[in-house]
Amino acid sequence: MAESWDVIAIGSGHNGLVAAAYMAQVGKKVLVLERNAWHGGGVVTRDLTAPGFRNDLHSMAHIFIQGNPLLKNDDLCLKSKFGLRYVFPEMPMMSVFEDGTTLGMYRDRERTVADIAKFSKKDAEAFRGFADMAQTFLPMIQSQLYSPPVPLGASYALMDQSREGREMWRIMQLSCHDLLTGLFENEKVIMHFGRIAGENLVSPDEKSTGMGPFVFVGFLEAYGIGVPVGGSGKLTDALIASIESNGGKVLANVDVARVTVKNGRAMGVATRDGREYAAKDGVIGAIHPHLLGKMVPGLDPAVVHDAEATQISEMGCITIHAALNEPLKFRAGDHVKAVMIELLPNSYNALRKSFDNLRYGGFTDPPLIGLGSLTMHDPSRAPAGKATMHVWDYVPYKRADGKNWDTEKKAYAEHMLAHMGKYISNVGPENIVAYHCDSPLDMERTSPSFMHGDLHGVASTTYQYGAHRPTPDLGMNVVPGCDRLYLVGPFQHPGGGVFGAGRAAAMRMCEDLKIDFDKIGVRK
Ligand SMILES: Cc1cc2nc3c(=O)[nH]c(=O)nc-3n(C[C@H](O)[C@H](O)[C@H](O)COP(=O)(O)OP(=O)(O)OC[C@H]3O[C@@H](n4cnc5c(N)ncnc54)[C@H](O)[C@@H]3O)c2cc1C
Repeated sequence: MAESWDVIAIGSGHNGLVAAAYMAQVGKKVLVLERNAWHGGGVVTRDLTAPGFRNDLHSMAHIFIQGNPLLKNDDLCLKSKFGLRYVFPEMPMMSVFEDGTTLGMYRDRERTVADIAKFSKKDAEAFRGFADMAQTFLPMIQSQLYSPPVPLGASYALMDQSREGREMWRIMQLSCHDLLTGLFENEKVIMHFGRIAGENLVSPDEKSTGMGPFVFVGFLEAYGIGVPVGGSGKLTDALIASIESNGGKVLANVDVARVTVKNGRAMGVATRDGREYAAKDGVIGAIHPHLLGKMVPGLDPAVVHDAEATQISEMGCITIHAALNEPLKFRAGDHVKAVMIELLPNSYNALRKSFDNLRYGGFTDPPLIGLGSLTMHDPSRAPAGKATMHVWDYVPYKRADGKNWDTEKKAYAEHMLAHMGKYISNVGPENIVAYHCDSPLDMERTSPSFMHGDLHGVASTTYQYGAHRPTPDLGMNVVPGCDRLYLVGPFQHPGGGVFGAGRAAAMRMCEDLKIDFDKIGVRK
């Protein structure tokens, strides 16, 4: 006989946990099954390098979840009861150029204005208008991030009703390049904002990415970047504690092979080792669209075909996690203390061409290095006086030279570190106690969400956006032809990142179960 639960979640990524935790909060008996030996998917902190050093395996910056009622209203008491604590450094992000100049993005707008003025007084003034507009857009954007998406037709019709809405629509269709070259004159200022938006795995030249800089600036000014004290995985720990406090269970090392379906309704799950679990009310599934047909029997072949045809970004991610003897010394000076630090060339066209290389299956040149050394803000992650470092660059999943990432990743990591030496004086073996490198292959091994090393599951393009993410059939967190199956993942709206967007799946489930979702969050 299958073990029986009300709700089963496939995967203990933060989105599955958020959905499960909301359902546990409304009194459902919840079981979460995770294939890895650890929990959290992309929100995990582990001992990867040397004793006493805690590294965030994937996400390190908790930006967009800060506007989620989950944290804003502490809906599930993650902060007040379950130990989740953030620090919000004054400088969320800084660009460091090869010639030693720097441009910071601060929570205090006037400090950002002053930094931009070092490059162009005209751009500093233009930034004021741009940041005002970002704050105007923010409530509209934020209202759509943590609930099921509005159907695209309705959302465009709404935008069409006002001048501001039509302007937003126009901006959405621009590339970052179109937007930023229209706003700013200085190439380093343009590069600074283009690179922030590029963290969404898009080149500044990608069309329909024009909202990116507004979203980042809006959030960074309003909330900053949350650095979880103790590591990214503290969010996962708090979610698990919340589920368990409501009688739920979260199990590791359980690989779910398929959803069991009867008469077009999800009835539970079957695991690869032959166990079955029944779910009376529904199944929450971290199921990548390319795996949907394999994991959910009996779906309409057209639904499965479109899911399998979703496009994955050409930008696979490669990361280095290091334990350092001493904090990093930036050649630009000791003021480089941001959460996210972007190491940039001196010329904007060099950045654009580097992104272009990825489009053709090549390597970035120069490397597009982003890094965080979060011990700057949270010393608890390393022994006293020591530091951690998290570095990323983008690479093709399939190498044009036919070589395997497993054998080549160390050479690539050394190439990244050598390039970093132009910006940082102590990033060699004298300071690196140990490091761990993950190639795009490793990335997809840690979670099927990161297929081909795409941090966002599927590419962040207009045709895989909003209610059409990942496909028009699957964009509303539900699966046509399989009732009571609710999808979560970076490949769903609003995309990759720590959003806590599993809340939308819980809303859909509550709607089907006739539970008033708005009453959740009364446990304080
Ligand atoms: C290197 C890297 C850096 C990143 N940095 C940031 C950052 O700084 N800030 C940010 O906001 N975002 C960042 N992201 C993106 C962010 O981590 C992800 O978008 C987010 O964690 C996705 O969460 P999720 O719960 O939807 O999916 P996942 O975290 O992928 O969780 C899915 C879970 O389900 C499990 N699972 C899947 N299938 C099964 C199955 N059949 N049976 C059992 N278990 C299963 C997986 O093992 C996994 O644990 C980064 C991602 C990567 C890879």
